[in-house]
Amino acid sequence: MKRLRPISFAQVAIDDAFWTPRQQTNRTATLPHLFAELERAGNIPNLRLAADGKREGYQGPVYMDSDLYKALEAAAYVLQQHPDDPIRATVDEVIGILERAQQPDGYLNSYFQVVAPDKRWSNLRDWHELYCAGHLIEAAVAHYHATGSERLLTVARRFADHIDSVFGDAPSKRPGYCGHPEIELALFRLYDATGEPRYKRLAEFFLLSRGKKLFAQEHNIPLEEYDGSIWQDNLPLLEQKEIVGHAVRAAYLFAGATDLAAETDDPTLRERLLQMLLRVWDNTTQRRAYITGGIGNEPKHEGFTADYELPNRTAYQETCASIALMFWAHRLGLLLGEARFYDALERALYNGALAGVSLDGKRFFYVNPLESDGTHHRKAWYGCACCPPNIARLIAALGDYIYAQGDDALYVNLYIGSRVRTTLGGAPLTLEMRTGYPWQETATIRLVEGAPRRLRLMLRLPAWCDAPELRINGSPLPLQRESGYAVVERDWTPDDVLELRLPMTPVLMEAHPRVAADRWQVALQRGPIVYCLEECDQPAPLERMAIRRDHPVHSVWAPELLGGIVALEGIAEVLDGDEAWGSALYRPLRERARMPFRAIPYYAWDHRRPCPMRVWLPVV
Ligand SMILES: [Zn+2]
Repeated sequence: MKRLRPISFAQVAIDDAFWTPRQQTNRTATLPHLFAELERAGNIPNLRLAADGKREGYQGPVYMDSDLYKALEAAAYVLQQHPDDPIRATVDEVIGILERAQQPDGYLNSYFQVVAPDKRWSNLRDWHELYCAGHLIEAAVAHYHATGSERLLTVARRFADHIDSVFGDAPSKRPGYCGHPEIELALFRLYDATGEPRYKRLAEFFLLSRGKKLFAQEHNIPLEEYDGSIWQDNLPLLEQKEIVGHAVRAAYLFAGATDLAAETDDPTLRERLLQMLLRVWDNTTQRRAYITGGIGNEPKHEGFTADYELPNRTAYQETCASIALMFWAHRLGLLLGEARFYDALERALYNGALAGVSLDGKRFFYVNPLESDGTHHRKAWYGCACCPPNIARLIAALGDYIYAQGDDALYVNLYIGSRVRTTLGGAPLTLEMRTGYPWQETATIRLVEGAPRRLRLMLRLPAWCDAPELRINGSPLPLQRESGYAVVERDWTPDDVLELRLPMTPVLMEAHPRVAADRWQVALQRGPIVYCLEECDQPAPLERMAIRRDHPVHSVWAPELLGGIVALEGIAEVLDGDEAWGSALYRPLRERARMPFRAIPYYAWDHRRPCPMRVWLPVV
């Protein structure tokens, strides 16, 4: 029942000044780095141990397999676009290990095979078995689509069939769901790839079982003492009101629930799911998300506390959580055909998620604070290495998020230079978009091939843009809006050039006054990019600076800085330092110095000498 159908990245050739170099870095630097680390850290060796029937030597936490599976998924996307990439040999080798490691009954998990064979499915809350299986399934579907090979898909199906034989409503099966949602959305992908309805039913079973508080039983916790919110086990799924618990788990769960809303044949269930999803989505984006698009405000549970509680220095905003929010937003966008979900997706993509990987592609943030004293840095790897392969698979499959299509319309959701080939209304269609986004304001769209035809284009009008303008062949076109999109329906010829201009004026943003951490402060935004100030760019320590609101902020193209950015420059008011202040502790208020400041995109911070960083600054 989706309003829109996805257009796969396989149909989209990205040719973009901002993203093409990033996809190249992802392919040539990040992917080899990931597989080298997965070998060094033990993820691949663990599976070799399992394949060889060994019982000792396992390294790392219980969910090590999942990091490898996400890297395999990223590699599959790369292979789809670059079939001869050298990563193919590694991928084939790993698939061989997985084939050998898989048990005769289909089970596959290196930890439980090497360390604890008698503990299978005994701690669903903490041990991530179904989560790991979910990432295997996602990797397998990606690999199948990329290469046509069914090798990894066969492994995943055998495991999914095994899981289906263990879990379910039937008397012969047991109840359960995973402490870390993921398998739900994976099973929908497997259903989509294979057409096997059992996978869809199993996903529905896991989704609708959640909230039965089975983890209380599993861990002998009296129900009156049990708070299952970290695993979204506090309420039945359909009764969820707010986003709670662990941020990545929550967003994966609601992504899976959105899949169910799209796939179920039960109209009552669909309606109830939609009501719940929109309630929780609004809570998430209106009260619990950072300006950088990420979610999860506290480190203790990697998740949420309360509405408007969005501290900056201790912001958690895990890279995976920004990505998970994008997965959820994309599914809601397809289901409902509304641009607002892509507004959230874009905000998370260009800010919270993109900060997760360094410009050279080899260092990663797990935690993404909005303020730093200069001691928080990207690392080459983590003991819990969920984020590095997650950002890699996102960037490799970025083309998934640019376009979508309705029955009679092509939707443009992101402005990324690209060529898309699809079939619309029974006829092939190739469109080309050119843009200097996110630095430049215009995107031009042309019909590249095909006969003149009637075509309905839906262009997302970003919420950040006050005054979008449309032109066709240089002549202004009145804006006709629908669900956050500009509707352009006309008879097209290949000579026509449609131009969308999205003026990108630097804006001082403020937060809802209930956000205590941001009161009397501003953040800088230009287009989809949220900015920060790093002390190394400033004439004074950040803690003494406030933004002057009466002075315009200018955009400055800095091609040599941080891979090429538009920097923002304005005037700050600066408190006197010790030398100018003297020995007094207090004094009558004086005029303060005014000095220029420079802001850089948040995603690009922590690439120069370590120094304090802030997204929100006082304003005067
Ligand atoms: Zn992560």
